[in-house]
Amino acid sequence: MNRLGALRFDNAFIRELPGDRSGKVHSRQTPGVCWASVSPSPVSQPRLLAYAPEVAALLDLEAQDVTSDTFAQVFGGNALLHGMAPYATRYGGHQFGTWAGQLGDGRAISLGEAINARGERWELQLKGAGITPYSRRADGRAVLRSSLREFLCSEAMFHLGVPTTRALSLIATGDAVRRDMLYDGNPRDEPGAVVCRVAPSFIRFGHFEILAAQGEHDLLRRLLSFTLEKHFPSLGGEPQQRFAAWFREVCERTAQLVVEWMRVGFVHGVMNTDNMSILGLTIDYGPYGWIDDFDPGWTPNTTDADMRRYCYGDQTIVARWNLERLAQALAGIAPSQSVLDEGLAHFDTMLQKGMHSMLAGKFGLRDWRDGDAELVADIFQLMQQSEVDMTEFFRLLALVDVSSPHVNVLATAFYHEEQFIQERARFETWLTRYAQRTGAEQSGSAERTERMNKVNPRFVLRNYLAQQAIEAAEQGDLKLLHRLLDAARTPYADAHPADLIAKRPDWARHKAGASMLSCSS
Ligand code: AMP
Ligand code: MG
Repeated sequence: MNRLGALRFDNAFIRELPGDRSGKVHSRQTPGVCWASVSPSPVSQPRLLAYAPEVAALLDLEAQDVTSDTFAQVFGGNALLHGMAPYATRYGGHQFGTWAGQLGDGRAISLGEAINARGERWELQLKGAGITPYSRRADGRAVLRSSLREFLCSEAMFHLGVPTTRALSLIATGDAVRRDMLYDGNPRDEPGAVVCRVAPSFIRFGHFEILAAQGEHDLLRRLLSFTLEKHFPSLGGEPQQRFAAWFREVCERTAQLVVEWMRVGFVHGVMNTDNMSILGLTIDYGPYGWIDDFDPGWTPNTTDADMRRYCYGDQTIVARWNLERLAQALAGIAPSQSVLDEGLAHFDTMLQKGMHSMLAGKFGLRDWRDGDAELVADIFQLMQQSEVDMTEFFRLLALVDVSSPHVNVLATAFYHEEQFIQERARFETWLTRYAQRTGAEQSGSAERTERMNKVNPRFVLRNYLAQQAIEAAEQGDLKLLHRLLDAARTPYADAHPADLIAKRPDWARHKAGASMLSCSS
C-alpha cells in the first residue's frame, strides 16, 4: 500500500484565517485576507531527482512511497492527495532596506498541513509550482539550479544543527524555464524543477508587516493569536504577558539563528524581512553562500555586490534591523512600546551571549573570558589578510598541540603557499597566545579536539560543489547531488571523500554560480 494515501491533513492556516477563495490566479492585491486559493499548474514530466529520507520519515513515508509515480505527480504539481487544499499566502516586506509593499507567495504553493503519527504539524509547500495571485509579472516557476541549491542546503543546514525549513523532494518538471541568470541580457532556457519544502509553518515577519502597513489591525490581531496558539502553545499567561513572552522569544530565536549562521560560515544573501521566519528558521535559500576564505565583507549575492548590505559579517546587525521592522508592525497591537523595546534589548543580550559561547566553542575554550574578544579578533584579521579557509582552519586548529604549538599544522588552510610562508611568524605568535589561553584550562588535547570538532564542521556545502552538482544534474548525471546529500548528513565526521572537503579550487574563484549568484532563480 502507498502510505501517501494515509497522510492526514489539518489545514489550520486556511481554516482559521480569512482567505480569497475565488481560485483566480491573476496578479492582484488581496486586502483583508491572509491567503488565496490556487492550484499548482501542471508540468509535463515530473521526475524525482532526489529526496530526503529523514524528511519522508517525518511524514511517515518510506522509500517506496516517495519513489512512486503518485509521489512525482503530487509533488511535481499535477495531482492532489485527499485532504490537500492548496493556497498561496499574502505577505509584504522590506527589501534591501525599503518597504516593498505586498509580495506574497509568488511561486510557493502550500498543499496543506500534514499531521504525522506523533501528532506533529508539518506544512508542505511546493516552490516553483506555477503562478499565484502574488506572482506579479513573474512566472511562478523555479529553475533546477536554484531548486537543487535549496534542496541540498536545507538538509545540510539541518544536519549541521542550524534551525531551518526542510526539503522533502526535488522534482524535475520536464519543462523549460527562461531565465537571464546574470541579468546581462542573455536569457536562456533552463530545466525547471519543484522543491517540496517542509516546516511547522512558513509564516514570515512580512505576514505581519503587510497587515500593519495596510491598517488591517483586526486581521493582524487574528494572525497573532493564530501564531501563538498553533506555534507557541507553551507560552501561557494573560494576553499582555503572553505577547511580551512571544516577542521576546521571536527575538531570542532570531539571535540564535544568526549566531548559528556565523558559526558555520553561512551567508543568507537576501535577509529581507519577507525572508525572515517567525519561528526563527532559515528560510528561502536563494543566492546564499558559504565562506571559503574568511572575509566578513563577503556576499555571494551579485545584486548586493555594491552595498554589501547582507554580507557575512553584518548578518547580526541586519537581523536586529529586521526585528525592529517587525516591532514597528506590531506597535499598533502591542500592549506597550516598552514590551517591544524589551524584546529588542533581549535580542542584544542573547546575541552577545550566543556569539561568545559560539566563539568559545569554535576555539575550544570552555568559557568566555576577558581578553578572548581580542584573541579572536586578532586571528580573524590575520585570516582575512592572508586568505585562510574558515572551515579548514578550525579543523586544523583543533589538531594543534597546545603544549608545543606548531604553525605548520595550519599550512593547508592557506589558499596561497607564499602567504603562509610570509605570514607564518605572525600566526606563530598568535598560536603561542592561544596555547597559553587554552593551556590555562588544562584540558587534554584529544578531548579538546573532540569538543571542537563537534561545532566546527568538516563538510560544508561549498558554493563550487553545489555548482558542480548543478552542471552534472543538468546533463542528467545525479551522482554528485546524491554524494553531497550523503556527505551533508555527517558534516562533523572526519572521514569524507577528499573531493568533497577540498578548499575552493582556483577556477571557482570568480565563476558564476560558484562565487557569484544573482536573485534570478
Ligand atoms: P525572493 O527574493 O526569492 O525572496 O522573492 C521575493 C518575492 O518575489 C516573493 O514574493 C517571491 O514569491 C517572488 N518571486 C520570486 N521569483 C518568482 C517567480 N519566478 N515567480 C513568481 N514570483 C516570484
Ligand atoms: Mg523570499
